[in-house]
Formats: sequence, C-alpha cells, structure tokens
Amino acid sequence: STAKLVEKGTKSTVTFNDVAGLKEAKAEVMEVVDFLKHPETYTELGAKIPKGVMLVGPPGTGKTLIAKAVAGEAQVPFFSMSGSEFVEMFVGVGASRVRDLFKRAKEKTPSIIFIDEIDAVGRSRGKGGGFQSNDERENTLNQLLTELDGFGPNTGVIVLAATNRPDVLDKALLRPGRFDRHIYLELPTKEERMEIFKVHLRPLKLAKDVDVVSLAELSPGFSGADIANICNEAALIAARKKKKTVHYHDFLEARDRIVGGMERKSKIISPKE
Ligand code: ATP
Repeated sequence: STAKLVEKGTKSTVTFNDVAGLKEAKAEVMEVVDFLKHPETYTELGAKIPKGVMLVGPPGTGKTLIAKAVAGEAQVPFFSMSGSEFVEMFVGVGASRVRDLFKRAKEKTPSIIFIDEIDAVGRSRGKGGGFQSNDERENTLNQLLTELDGFGPNTGVIVLAATNRPDVLDKALLRPGRFDRHIYLELPTKEERMEIFKVHLRPLKLAKDVDVVSLAELSPGFSGADIANICNEAALIAARKKKKTVHYHDFLEARDRIVGGMERKSKIISPKE
C-alpha cells in the first residue's frame, strides 16, 4: 500500500550519538545538516545547495542510520523509499510513486528524501532486468531524474540515496545537479567496532565479564548491522537461560550463531555472482 511505501514524512529520533565510528562520513553529512538548518548562510553568498548525496558502502555499514541521523539532527521530516520495492511493483506504478514522494517532501520543506538501494532502479539503462521489465524500471528511473531536475537547488529538499553497487549506477544519476556528492562508508576497524558495540550495549543489562575490547576482537569483518544483531541475540540467549544479566559467553554463542548464518547465506549467494 502507499502508506507502507511512502512514509508520511516521519520524524526521526536518530542522532549522531547513535552513529559510532564513521568519522569522515559524519563530518560530511554534518554539512548537509547545516544546509537544512541554515540555508541562508549559503544562499546569501550566492551558493547553490547540493540536492543529491549518494551514500556508498557495503551492506549494514550504517547508510540508512546516517540518513536518519541527518533528519534527526536537522529536525526535518524524513521521507523514504527503497529501490527494491519498485522492482517488485506492478507495471506503471513506479513512476507515480516517485512523483508522489517528491510532492509530499516538497510540501514539507525543509525535508529529506531517502532512497535506499537506489541501484535497483538506477542501474545503467539497457543493462540487466531482474524481476521487472526493463521498460518499467527505466520509466521509474526517468521519473526520478525528472524530479531531481524539477526543483531548484535551494528549495529545502535534500535527497540522500544509498547503494552498495556504485559500479552499476546509470551515469545520468551522477551528473552535476543530481547525485553529485558521494560519501563513502566502510566496514568498521577494530576500534570502530568497539565504538559500535558501546552503542548497542547501552540498552543491555551486562554481567561484569563483558568487555568491548574482546567483543571487537571476536568480530572481524562484522558490519554495524552484524554488531547490532550480535548484541540483541546475546540478550535473547541470556533471557532464554533465565539469566539476570548478559554474560560474555552469551556473546560467544550469539557470534557463532550469526557467523553460521552468514556462512549459510554466502553458500547460497556465491554461486551466482
Ligand atoms: P543496507 O545496505 O543493508 O541497507 P545500511 O548501510 O543502510 O545497510 P543500516 O540499515 O543503516 O545499514 O544499519 C543497520 C543497523 O545496524 C542500524 O540500524 C544500526 O542498529 C546498526 N549500525 C550500522 N552501522 C552502525 C554504526 N556505525 N553505529 C551504530 N550502529 C550501526
């Protein structure tokens, strides 16, 4: 339904305090927050505020999180849609959804539009279809380009998009005046994993034997999403054992379960790619 697909400009309660690591990406999106909060600083000098910012990085590295944090910090409504949802939609619907999304966001300026998995609609035209006919996806992409060009740079709408496949994106999306700014997010280093663990341990009731250094050491290659997952899984495991606090051992069990899940997933996925 439309209600599910295009949120009515939800209020984001995420702040930069919820985003650990990602120092450079945070510094760059802070500029976007400032565009939204103090546009006059830029426009009075004759500057054009960027309209589109592309967040690029592997799955689970915090692209959605950082987009929500921008909305939360700037205190502007957050309109979101996912490119992959369009791919599953009925013929003719994609373009009108895009139109609807921009219309709503423009009615509520200053505002943010977030397009997750933009590669699903924004694949280079004439390359690979997926579930949907190429025509339909192209119509949706063309509508997106039209919308991006259809409002001025200082309208108060900033479009953030996320992808983990920048290589397949249609070059038209990346032209000046469209998504001409790119912010890169990487998998966290050990130090950054410690910081991310600290964020996700906040709500947990911990036993004294839990320390973030060991947790960061036992999770090489984990994304922020994996870390959030391990923390919650550990709490579930502890609860199942009727424990009063979450112990280090519960994290080990949770880690093994998650690594097992990741291995099964990559076995299913890898033969194709
Ligand atoms: P995908 O490409 O799979 O959509 P994504 O990059 O958009 O992933 P998010 O959805 O933002 O990733 O991350 C999922 C969850 O992982 C977040 O809601 C948050 O709980 C956690 N997370 C990811 N990165 C971080 C981080 N840097 N700091 C704190 N939590 C994080």
